[in-house]
Amino acid sequence: MCWPELSKRHPKFKVEGEGQEYADPREAAEAAIAICRAWRKAGEKHVKVAHGTTGGYTLPFESVTFTDLRAWADQIWEKLEKCPVCGGPLPDKRKCFRLWDTGDDTLFCSESCAEKESDYQAAENAKLNEICDNG
Ligand SMILES: [Zn+2]
Repeated sequence: MCWPELSKRHPKFKVEGEGQEYADPREAAEAAIAICRAWRKAGEKHVKVAHGTTGGYTLPFESVTFTDLRAWADQIWEKLEKCPVCGGPLPDKRKCFRLWDTGDDTLFCSESCAEKESDYQAAENAKLNEICDNG
């Protein structure tokens, strides 16, 4: 998860995405760039973008260029597990959804995607049963 922000307690540029959480690192990078530009426009010329993992703590990061931030976000995106239905990033495993009735371990990003897969499998099974009944 990514949080583009300058100050979590007092987000100033909420419209640009400051203080929000993003499952997609590419969206987080774009928000960080938009926030950075907004701060610079507001007179804070020293504001820069950076990336890293805090482990829940506050740590300083080395600043990078917008191009490097986007490249980093693309790399992270490639490594993320994706939902087989919508192609979106999977949330934390505890927040994922499964098809409980099938014993299938496939994870989905949302209840809606799990339902779509369940409906799809039910329709495929109905087709198979129809073929078997008619054959
Ligand atoms: Zn999904």
